[in-house]
Amino acid sequence: MRWLFHMKSFAKATAALKRRLGSRVVHTDEAARREASFDSSKILFEAAAVIRVRREVEVGIVLELANKFRVPVTTRGRGTTLTGAAAPVQGGWVLDTLALDKIAIDGESGMAHVQAGAKVGDIQRAAAAQGWFYPPDPSSKEYCTIGGNIACNAGGMHGGKYGVTRDFVVALRGFLPTGEFVEWGTATKKFSAGFNMRDLWIGSEGMLGVVTGVVLKLVPQPAARWTLLTSFRDETTALRAALALFRQHVQPAICEFLDRESVLCAERATAKTIFAGQAGRPVILLELTGTQLDVKEQSAAVRAWAKAHATAHRVARDRDEAEELWAVRRKCSGAMFELGDAKLNEDVVLPMRSYVKFARFLAALKRESGLHIPTFGHLADGNLHVNIMYRRADPRESRAAERAVKKLMETVVALGGAISGEHGIGLAKTPFLRIQHSAAQVRAMQAVKDALDPRGILNPGKMFNVFRVWEHPRMDVHLPWDHK
Ligand SMILES: Cc1cc2nc3c(=O)[nH]c(=O)nc-3n(C[C@H](O)[C@H](O)[C@H](O)COP(=O)(O)OP(=O)(O)OC[C@H]3O[C@@H](n4cnc5c(N)ncnc54)[C@H](O)[C@@H]3O)c2cc1C
Repeated sequence: MRWLFHMKSFAKATAALKRRLGSRVVHTDEAARREASFDSSKILFEAAAVIRVRREVEVGIVLELANKFRVPVTTRGRGTTLTGAAAPVQGGWVLDTLALDKIAIDGESGMAHVQAGAKVGDIQRAAAAQGWFYPPDPSSKEYCTIGGNIACNAGGMHGGKYGVTRDFVVALRGFLPTGEFVEWGTATKKFSAGFNMRDLWIGSEGMLGVVTGVVLKLVPQPAARWTLLTSFRDETTALRAALALFRQHVQPAICEFLDRESVLCAERATAKTIFAGQAGRPVILLELTGTQLDVKEQSAAVRAWAKAHATAHRVARDRDEAEELWAVRRKCSGAMFELGDAKLNEDVVLPMRSYVKFARFLAALKRESGLHIPTFGHLADGNLHVNIMYRRADPRESRAAERAVKKLMETVVALGGAISGEHGIGLAKTPFLRIQHSAAQVRAMQAVKDALDPRGILNPGKMFNVFRVWEHPRMDVHLPWDHK
């Protein structure tokens, strides 16, 4: 009954919106609504309308009317979030930003001026065409938008050396939940005028405003790259070895770890061998970037390190071979579904000093739970992707997964880490927010939300309300970025 009431009141508001923006912008047909009713978490809700804005100013109109009629608005980039952050959990309108996709590179200042719906891979290519580099590279970069990356403070494999999305955002513009236009920062490398609202928006998961335009800092394209594949006797040896490398002040652009289960899944899924003759061994994939001289010096140190610590190592012959290795790595996450039809996909972060303790904890968690928990991640920034795989129809496995994820989060926080390093909270991590944050911290975040969004219309139901994803059915749907 309550749902029916909402749908009816939303219908009145949607009619008003159609009058303002026209039916080429406001879509209420079933196909459009269904497509916007879920994200990569694959939990289905029900959007009352999809608004495909074509001009930034339309975002303000949408929010103004949403406030007037109290309609929930969920901003959407490409819907690749794995946490449910882009799913319209309370129905209402989905604000689709994909058509705001302009990209302009300022080659003199080394900045990119882009709209929120621009695809991250396209930004990287546009920058590269002028000799610049935009380092944050989520594995979903050929699909996801910069607006989504800002909202989640997305990371990727380059985090350790270069940083994450936050480290490259110079200025933002967009609309407050009330529909007022704002600009946070200017296209300058320094800005100290007033509260840093720009950084408050970054990582706010679409709850404090809608980003429409962004200025990004770029760095020069590195002149040289060098890629090395190493394999290790076991996981603990690999993690210890990585720490030994960092102690030598070697700063790889990428330092990706794949445990043995991740290696096997990626190999089976791609029908490619990651490291011939080293089947079933954990690997670390390393990339050095910099000037020819830097890379030459560091690669000599890394080769010596590999000889001392790894069971085998191999330098990629050329860029094509290196790209093949990275492509196998990028398939890793999807490949795990051979181990179970359900996954609790966690992107925890750990202080480096606790790597070995954490490896022991994971081994014990696998034994106790009886579940497959393939783990891979970015060793140079402590961000590990722990994938708890289970069969949804099996009540024992489902319960074991639920217990395992809770224990994982408690352990990560006890070790001084964080429950998410790049995906954010959304719906999926809501049961653990209060493990990470004290009551005072959560209250402070809620106070900010209430101040900027007094009617609670922007992405309601996320972050603070507890939602147990494992209690909800997942749709049987194939998304373009899913592994085939
Ligand atoms: C195969 C795969 C690999 C992935 N790999 C990585 C990875 O390596 N690193 C990583 O960090 N993430 C990764 N992700 C997660 C996901 O791609 C990122 O979170 C990404 O930032 C989401 O971008 P999107 O455009 O799809 O946003 P959406 O999923 O549409 O939205 C995500 C959140 O951003 C908000 N939002 C979107 N646009 C705006 C805007 N303009 N203004 C305000 N809020 C907005 C939404 O409301 C929502 O809360 C991966 C996902 C998949 C499916």
